[in-house]
Amino acid sequence: MCFGWITLLADYLSGASVRVMIRHLAVAISFFAALLTEPATAESPEEERWSIAIHGGAGTIRREDMTPEREAEYTAALQAALDAGAEILRNGGSAMDAVKAAIVPLEDDPKFNAGRGAVYTWDGRNEHDAAIMDGRDRSAGAITGTTTIKNPILLADAVRGDGRHVFLSGAGAEQFARDKGLATVSPEWFGTKRRKEAVERLRAHELSALDVDYKFGTVGAVALDREGNLAAGTSTGGLTGKRWGRIGDSPVIGAGTYADNRSCAVSATGAGEYFIRVGVAQEICTRLRFRFRAEIDEAQASVPKDADGMPTYIVHASEFGLEAGEVREEADAVMAETGALGGTGGVIVVTPDGHAMFSFNTPGMYRGRATSKGVNEVAIFAED
Ligand code: ASP
Repeated sequence: MCFGWITLLADYLSGASVRVMIRHLAVAISFFAALLTEPATAESPEEERWSIAIHGGAGTIRREDMTPEREAEYTAALQAALDAGAEILRNGGSAMDAVKAAIVPLEDDPKFNAGRGAVYTWDGRNEHDAAIMDGRDRSAGAITGTTTIKNPILLADAVRGDGRHVFLSGAGAEQFARDKGLATVSPEWFGTKRRKEAVERLRAHELSALDVDYKFGTVGAVALDREGNLAAGTSTGGLTGKRWGRIGDSPVIGAGTYADNRSCAVSATGAGEYFIRVGVAQEICTRLRFRFRAEIDEAQASVPKDADGMPTYIVHASEFGLEAGEVREEADAVMAETGALGGTGGVIVVTPDGHAMFSFNTPGMYRGRATSKGVNEVAIFAED
């Protein structure tokens, strides 16, 4: 092993990339440090790592259009949802539980376009879409077009837990919810005056959903737990004035929601048609997975060979992780691609290394993040 490191040193001096040098140096230091210290315990910082990010929609959300009172209300609602999810992760709970704990209060809050407070369809109904995905085994559940299920994210999770299907719609999804004993309410419970007026304006003036309210208001959460598992969930009323059974990206696995322990967890908000066309959530995860793999391969290729042509050191995936800047680059690239097609909105992303971040191409996004490293923040405007 020592000989291997001496050979590596010689190789560096003959010009391996600086980045690979630094990485191998870090591995060397940790290797020698490990010889001098106790073996890692369950309390090691590595295993303590957890992260969560939430959103309450993106869009034309500008400081000049918002009263201080309204801003304080949104900030408090986001902080409460973030705290609910973070508390679970801090106490060793699962990413799946944290995602649900963060989304349920946002669904119950009429300020957001999910659960209570959902936008109206062209026909004057509140129809919900939701999805949830577990990065451990990529099990997923999604529902669309329900009108009486109090917390659509819990119904999506019941579909996932049942396991026979991934995506249920309308009356069938409602029946399934009743069979599973989920809480139901009358359809009127979801309605709000503000959303009703928005659809009335849209119908009267033949406006588009973005003309009446260019704030998407969908809610979502992504989390990494201390076991290293990722989860993602999204819940929405869709777009104001939606017709003909329109379904957005939120409940479409791979478009608005995706989680895979090998790469990341993503929840999106925005003009759903574009997010479906790009497959935004899965596209970000796939890019991160391949980038990670490429970096390991690059490092392995730089390891010198012995006399038999065998590498003197086998690089392990556990020695690597993508940096925050690399994750951001990939998320921004996918959002740029979506924007180039005409799609506006944003995503929240959490990675196995604990990075929690946002990428959006709108003036604002209701958002928050918390991590085991002490990050705890909510923000609304792009400049925050
Ligand atoms: N993405 C959602 C949809 O298209 C809307 C939103 O984000 O608010 O249904």
